[in-house]
Amino acid sequence: MDVKKTLLNLLYPVRCVVCDEITGYAKEAVCRKCRGKIVYIREPFCMKCGKQLNKQEQEYCSDCQKKNHAYIQGTALYDYGSMADSVFRFKYKGRMEYSKFYGKELYNEKACWLSMISPDALIPVPVHPSRKRKRGYNQAELIARELSRCSGIPVNARLIRRVGKTIPLKNLNQLEREKNLKRAFKIYKNDVKLNTIVIIDDIYTTGSTIDAMAGILHKAGIPKVYFMALTIGRGI
Ligand SMILES: [Zn+2]
Ligand SMILES: [Zn+2]
Repeated sequence: MDVKKTLLNLLYPVRCVVCDEITGYAKEAVCRKCRGKIVYIREPFCMKCGKQLNKQEQEYCSDCQKKNHAYIQGTALYDYGSMADSVFRFKYKGRMEYSKFYGKELYNEKACWLSMISPDALIPVPVHPSRKRKRGYNQAELIARELSRCSGIPVNARLIRRVGKTIPLKNLNQLEREKNLKRAFKIYKNDVKLNTIVIIDDIYTTGSTIDAMAGILHKAGIPKVYFMALTIGRGI
């Protein structure tokens, strides 16, 4: 390790993406203790939304059995519970640098899925401009940019905008939530002909955000909408 690197390391020690402790001299993103703690989504998973399932013979999670999602299919990298604190710091505590690790991990795990779909663009879930100003960045866009750097698939962050007032979703019931979300997105500039896109988000829960976006993207003439989430809850 050269002198400059050593000094930088002393001034700005590398902290573990998972537990936030200093990882030591090795420039590792994840400390030794946490390496086994990250839970990746592995088969069996829901064929529609990608949630981890318990039984091999189950095709869809209970949510996707009931609901007709507007997107074709989705995939996710981590079990939300195992990365909840990490994603919280990434989203609310300014830890933008996590996107480098997340993007690389997404690419390592999902390159096959991506080449199967062969999307024209990655579209991050937009945040309302006022929230972006306050936070300084859109976390989904940071992930998309890093994934784009690895995969070569371009990011399109201008096509769809968030216009709706940001009512905290937890204060709304399901129906109000969906109504609110339908009004929340607007196609801004549809000057590129896209056929297949992948929406990028940090957390997938009920899928209502992705569905609302897929609906408006369909109207804009984009037939094939997939999503990729950094984290996802477990399915039943
Ligand atoms: Zn750690
Ligand atoms: Zn599902």
